[in-house]
Amino acid sequence: MSTGQGVTIRAAVSRGVGIPTGIEDVHLAAPGPGEVRVEVEACAVCHSDLSYLDGTWATDFPLVLGHEATGRILEIGVEPWKTTSDGDLDGKHDEQHGRLVDLSVGDPVVISLIRTCGNCRACLRGHDVACTGDIALNATSPLTDTDGAPLIQGLAVGGFATQVVVDRSQVVPLPADVDLVAASLLGCGVLTGSGAVTNTARVSAGDAVVVVGCGGVGIGAIQAARLAGAHPIVAVDPAADKRNAALGFGATHAADPTGGSTGSGHPGGHLAAVITEATGGRLADHVLVTTGAPAALDGAIDLLAPMGQLVIVGMAGDGVTIEVAPSWLAAANKSILGSKMGTARVAVDVPALVDHHRAGRLDLAGMVSSTHTLDDIQDAFDEVWRGDVVRTVVLPNGPVTGNPVTAAASTAAGEPATC
Ligand SMILES: [Zn+2]
Ligand SMILES: [Zn+2]
Repeated sequence: MSTGQGVTIRAAVSRGVGIPTGIEDVHLAAPGPGEVRVEVEACAVCHSDLSYLDGTWATDFPLVLGHEATGRILEIGVEPWKTTSDGDLDGKHDEQHGRLVDLSVGDPVVISLIRTCGNCRACLRGHDVACTGDIALNATSPLTDTDGAPLIQGLAVGGFATQVVVDRSQVVPLPADVDLVAASLLGCGVLTGSGAVTNTARVSAGDAVVVVGCGGVGIGAIQAARLAGAHPIVAVDPAADKRNAALGFGATHAADPTGGSTGSGHPGGHLAAVITEATGGRLADHVLVTTGAPAALDGAIDLLAPMGQLVIVGMAGDGVTIEVAPSWLAAANKSILGSKMGTARVAVDVPALVDHHRAGRLDLAGMVSSTHTLDDIQDAFDEVWRGDVVRTVVLPNGPVTGNPVTAAASTAAGEPATC
């Protein structure tokens, strides 16, 4: 049913660096043409959210964060002249409605932060992450507070809220049997990590892959490298529990960049020694840095074999720079690649990942370390700040019903993290 003037929702509003995020009643505008209103079932906490909250990345406030989500379609925005006489329209019943006819009210969807116009040069070349088109929601946030002041829709979603209005390009329908808590990771972390492997680095069978950082993006990259047939796959993280978890998701070796190492018979080895031994001395074909920590880039190029690629996936803080010797890059034919959101094409890559998940090849539920209510969102943030979790997921409307909820996804907040 059309909401006309919009609805009142509950949202986690962040009003400045160092100011605790509070839950407020917020006005959400009705979806315009080409937009959808979605009830948010699950929204995972990504490090990017916290990079704004702690000032690592500059942003304006106030804003509603959260951008890695699933939900159910509540309303489909239409041009007024296409609305039926009773003001209701659910997409599939509207033969004139163009690109929205594949969606119906009630459909479960993944929500991503990648918003595309479909018509600009980048979109036409399949480079969704570089879209430069004019999209209404880029110009005007659908969110205002109770005083009528605008709230920024953080990272184009604002998913730490009971509902969102997003562009049609940001949602991908899900099969009815997919766990909406686990599938939320497809909105950013797993999409980014796997895309860095398949789209940016184009990892082939037998390639030696090093993944630096074993959070949600890193574990997504490790699973994609496994699916691509890479070998060895070396997981690098200073946290022992994350290294151990990475071995469970497909890493063949694990190394501690601060000195020690675990797994596959490399006790006490240094990072370079582990990679040298794991690759038989040829070093890595791809080093993917999935964390924004500047130390993660130190010496990363030295881990590459000739022809190798350093793929920068994690977003470092504003002002962080690295030094490279260009002649040395050229002499060894090494390259440095940036990977924004895994160079993902949401409409193509999310369904492929869903297929892997449903076939048991991509473990999403195992990456969900804890869940929290919207009211307990600060606890979720604290878990991520402490590095306790691969992913913690906020459930803005309470426990998810309708789609299966896994045992891992329903673990109580505060339980020991799996990664
Ligand atoms: Zn993210
Ligand atoms: Zn575009």
